[in-house]
Amino acid sequence: MTLADILPSLACAEPELVFAGAPVGRLAARFGTPAHFIDEDAVRSRARAYREALPDAEVAFAGKALCTAGVLRWIAEEGLSLDTCSAGEIAMARSVGFPAERILLHGNAKTPEDFKAAIEYGVGRIVVDSLDEIAQLGPLARAGQQVMIRVTPDVAADTHAAISTGTEGQKFGFSLDRSVPENLDRAVAAVLAQPSLRLTGLHCHIGSQVSRVDRFELAARKMAATLAHVRETFGVTLRQLDLGGGHAVAYREGDPEFDLGGYARRIRIALAFECTRHGLPLPRLTIEPGRAIVASAGMTVYRVCSVKRGSRTFVAVDGGMSDNPRPALYGARYHARLVRGHTKASHVPMSVVGRHCESGDVLAENVPLPSDVHAGDLIAVPCTGAYHHSLGSNYNLVGRPPVVGVRAGTATVLVRRESEDDLLRRECPAGMPVEITA
Ligand SMILES: *Cc1c(COP(=O)(O)O)cnc(C)c1O
Repeated sequence: MTLADILPSLACAEPELVFAGAPVGRLAARFGTPAHFIDEDAVRSRARAYREALPDAEVAFAGKALCTAGVLRWIAEEGLSLDTCSAGEIAMARSVGFPAERILLHGNAKTPEDFKAAIEYGVGRIVVDSLDEIAQLGPLARAGQQVMIRVTPDVAADTHAAISTGTEGQKFGFSLDRSVPENLDRAVAAVLAQPSLRLTGLHCHIGSQVSRVDRFELAARKMAATLAHVRETFGVTLRQLDLGGGHAVAYREGDPEFDLGGYARRIRIALAFECTRHGLPLPRLTIEPGRAIVASAGMTVYRVCSVKRGSRTFVAVDGGMSDNPRPALYGARYHARLVRGHTKASHVPMSVVGRHCESGDVLAENVPLPSDVHAGDLIAVPCTGAYHHSLGSNYNLVGRPPVVGVRAGTATVLVRRESEDDLLRRECPAGMPVEITA
């Protein structure tokens, strides 16, 4: 008999999982499952890495990736700016006193409520995306409202079509092609014709989960040439250039990593070269990482409800597409592991599926899990900090999981679990019928 037989934990393939200094089994016992955990130090260190890589640039966190008050407070403290795209996100930023001059408002279809929220809070820059928007914003805006124009640089991002946003034929931005009705020249003329608006720069965002730095470099070159075109055509020199976000993260081991150092170097060189060539002053650069700041800082923990061994083995857990729709939306692939470490069972490929009434409700396909996985086990899915909480739904009237910040073994609830009372709150069982007549 060996020591490993007496102490099974010594024989484990993997040790019990620890997250930000806290044993994950204890986190799950305290906060229940499913639950999203977010490592505060990891978010802060990603934010710092961006600021250090591009010390002269403005780094704006794309709030849509994870928009909760607790996280926005960390982002504000780290000196980042913030991208918003709705009155709701502005309200969240406002709830933590996020400095308005560091907020940008985006979106291809801003409503009057979005504009009003932005103007009332004094949001620094509004990025306009259509001639209709420019016409609607002009009369609402306070004098001197800074505006940037979203451009379609026609750079293919090499990513999923649903998150590729920089080419012709998708809904975002103004075309550089002057034969297209809503082109950049018409947008510039329209903004300049609104006395309340001050045109300060151009913006582009080529897509999300883009790992190729050369795509961003090409966009930077095209945008610099576009700044030169605007100066030649309209005699205005724009001082701001926003190259958007979309920097890829590795969801699984072996996924391509985004080379932040290489990005910073190549963008800086490309812009310096193009601006010199066109005799332009170097614009102030803004970049907008969302996923790259928070994705890898997050982890979601589920409890196994059942293990069904058929032609494939399905490990069904107590969450699913309501807390992670990304596999169903974009075919996103995830890793999953057992939280307990002590097993001598061999690993075999299994599908981790959710509890929702659709067969596309899959969390992780073909992941190796120990053959002794059973109901009651805890499963952890890493890299869930971005576009999980923010993309969540109440499908099947399943309450959304809490978001719990963890730092050095101490956990703080940032967003509590959604209860059945929450789910019933908007119902109006005794609603009064209202007559709507012509
Ligand atoms: C979504 C979005 C981002 C952030 O994208 P990530 O992939 O999370 O980095 C940045 N800017 C704009 C305008 C966006 O729409």
